[in-house]
Amino acid sequence: MNKIKFVDLQAQYNSIRREIDSAVENVLNSSVFINGKNVNEFEMSFRSYLGVNHVIGCANGTDAIEIILQACHIGPGDEVIVPAASWISTAEAVSTLGAIPVFVDIDPLTYTLNPELIEKKISKKAKAVIPVHLYGNPADMVSINLIAQKHNLIVIEDCAQAHGASINGKKVGTFGQASTFSFYPSKNLGAYGDAGAMASDNADIAGTARKIANHGQTEKNKHPMLGRNSRLDELQAAVLNVKLKHLDNWNTQRAAHANHYSELLKNSSVVVPQVRGNSKHVFHLYVILSEKRDELKKFLSEKNIETAVHYPSALPFLDGYANQKHSEKDFPVAAAFTRKILSLPMYPELKADMIEYVSDCIKKFE
Ligand SMILES: *Cc1c(COP(=O)(O)O)cnc(C)c1O
Repeated sequence: MNKIKFVDLQAQYNSIRREIDSAVENVLNSSVFINGKNVNEFEMSFRSYLGVNHVIGCANGTDAIEIILQACHIGPGDEVIVPAASWISTAEAVSTLGAIPVFVDIDPLTYTLNPELIEKKISKKAKAVIPVHLYGNPADMVSINLIAQKHNLIVIEDCAQAHGASINGKKVGTFGQASTFSFYPSKNLGAYGDAGAMASDNADIAGTARKIANHGQTEKNKHPMLGRNSRLDELQAAVLNVKLKHLDNWNTQRAAHANHYSELLKNSSVVVPQVRGNSKHVFHLYVILSEKRDELKKFLSEKNIETAVHYPSALPFLDGYANQKHSEKDFPVAAAFTRKILSLPMYPELKADMIEYVSDCIKKFE
């Protein structure tokens, strides 16, 4: 077996090369690179894809979180509830604004924010909660929204890994007051560079976010407020317009690969991902748990299989949050999980024989 890559962006480009090349060439020929028709078209299409009133493109998924928090008037000293397991951006965006991320442990079934543990972390300073649909698996938005309503918290969904995931047929990114997306190249919907977006049904939040992302401008040289520069550009929007049309198909392929892995690994010693009955998981990552993770990773690498760990440290234990003085007993699920998680190769173009080979190797390791 040839080397099995963890993700293969080249395979995806090969499958849509003509569409992409012509979209990029059109942008170059028009020589409109900022705030042109591609960004506008993408915002409209993504709006109807999600079923939300407003979508605003921006420079990346981290900026999206930061700008939405700012548009929701979250600032220095405010507390924001964040899951202990996520990519750093979820907490980092809170910290950048001078607000404080308050970490809550994850649910052992879905690895997303555990709603049962939120209430005891809510203080008078708590203003918002950011559930993350980690790996593409929807967080329990119904329970989270109930708690948020009771305590008057703003809900901002971090959908960076979950484009197209849903709960009871309703897309993630439409449950909170606002939501954020990353189009980092390897995400389920990925640009060819950095890109991101924010979504909301709330016209005030959306209007403020749009101003912040474009120097506080409402029209050229009119700056009713101060903002910054965090725009989606025309080249990335043109790529996203092509790729959005393929997203559902790609997500279906990811889910089929995940089922195939889970079927083959059913009676093995590793734990396969679990999905709540009413949820659609879009498998940005296919993450198993193994008691001997490091040895398994090494063994698979010797078999020419690339794997990854998302993420080697839970957020409260990162050096940047050492000031919060957390220990593993504060987040027992996230801490144990960090030692066991292993992300297997996952991308739409993966082939059945590759999944069979990877699964066989995992069983041989035991
Ligand atoms: C990728 C990611 C982000 C940040 O996106 P960038 O576009 O890389 O800034 C935020 N949150 C999560 C959970 C992510 O996976």
